[in-house]
Parts: sequence; structure tokens; C-alpha cells
Amino acid sequence: MRIIGFEKLTLVDYPAKVACILFCGGCNMRCPYCHNGELVLHPDYFPPFSDDEIFSYLKKRKGILDAVVISGGEPTLQEGLGEYMARIKDEGLLVKLDTNGTRPDVIRSLIDDHLVDYIAMDVKNSIDSYAATVGIKGFDPTSVMESITLLKEGRVDYEFRTTVTKETHKQENFIALASLLEGAKAYYLQNYVPNENTIEKGNTPLSYDELQNYIRILRKTIGNVKIRNI
Ligand code: SF4
Repeated sequence: MRIIGFEKLTLVDYPAKVACILFCGGCNMRCPYCHNGELVLHPDYFPPFSDDEIFSYLKKRKGILDAVVISGGEPTLQEGLGEYMARIKDEGLLVKLDTNGTRPDVIRSLIDDHLVDYIAMDVKNSIDSYAATVGIKGFDPTSVMESITLLKEGRVDYEFRTTVTKETHKQENFIALASLLEGAKAYYLQNYVPNENTIEKGNTPLSYDELQNYIRILRKTIGNVKIRNI
């Protein structure tokens, strides 16, 4: 595991828990609106945090921290992810994984081995718009669909989430997403927040009315739909 970002305290990244976040570098997607552009494109620019630094912090904050969030980049591309999660769980902490869902084999083995307590999976767009939304020509979303099916089995607590921009998401996408994610446990629409560090420039957030309209479409098939970043 190569951890290149470390946020020591967050109250919003693990539902109802006090957590810290570890960021891995590198990703197999190039979402134009990605906020972690440098982390994704140039992970080697960042010096890694040592295990000592991270685990001594976790020990010091025992009783205050409930959980560790492992985010990216895309953490499932990292070697040793399972072993790293096991070490965190040995400290008595919950583990949340943020993932783009492209490695269902890795996700399945983390669930099978009881190494992860909560998974937040990005569902970038409806299947026919996936390649354009993740910035990879010819992207095959089969792995993503497999991960959606896996999480819907409900063997681990989870949420699906979609970061939405005016440029990448239209009404027809949400009609298709409502069908793709039918019956999901929790789904968050995350409105794009303008940022200097994105992979490409020129994305804009949706208006409040647009978000409300899309929420109405999604609630026809998904019970628990919420908005982040109104
Ligand atoms: S938004 Fe997530 S999946 Fe997309 S490029 Fe950034 S880290 Fe990768």
C-alpha cells in the first residue's frame, strides 16, 4: 500500500462515524471532473506516509476515531489492500472503502474476508454514457455492473453515488440509472463543486431544480436517495 494523502479527521465521510481518510494514488479512470487530478495523474510526485506514521496516529486516537476511510485514486489497484485493512481492523477500527467498482474480484474477497465494513461505490453514469464520463475511450463497464450486483446482495453496508455535472449528466441518464440501481440500499447524488485541481476544466454544477427533478426520477425505484453539495 502506498498512502500519499492523509486527512486526520472527518465527520462526513463515514456515515455517523468519526474517521480519518487515507488516499492512494493512481486510477484506471480519468473522470474530467475528478477533484484529485494530481493524485490520479502524478502519484509519484507525492512522498508516501510511512506505516509507522499512520498506525501510531491510529493508536494515539483510540477512543476518538471510529473508522478509517481508504480512498483514492482507486484503492483496489493497490497491492496489499486486504492486509492493510486487516491491520486497521486489528486496531479495533471500522474500515470504509471508496471505489470506482472496476475490481469486483478484489471487492468480493474483501467482503468474504470481513475486512471492510462500508463500501461507497461510484456509479459514474448510465451504462451507455460510461466511457465518456470516465474519460476512457472504449471503456468496458462490465466490471462495474458486476460490482453493482455484488453490493446489491447486501453482504456489507454500502452506498452508490454519482458526481453529477451539467456537461456529463442529462435526464435520460437518470432514467437509465433508476433502472440500473433499482432496489439499492442508499444512493447519493453528489453535485459537482467547482475546483482548481480537476483533470479537465469546464465542468459546472447542476441547479437545485435540476437536482430535484432527477431525485424524483430516481426515487421511483430507489427508496433512499439523497443529495450532497446542493
Ligand atoms: S473521480 Fe475517482 S474514479 Fe474518477 S479519476 Fe478521480 S479518482 Fe479515478
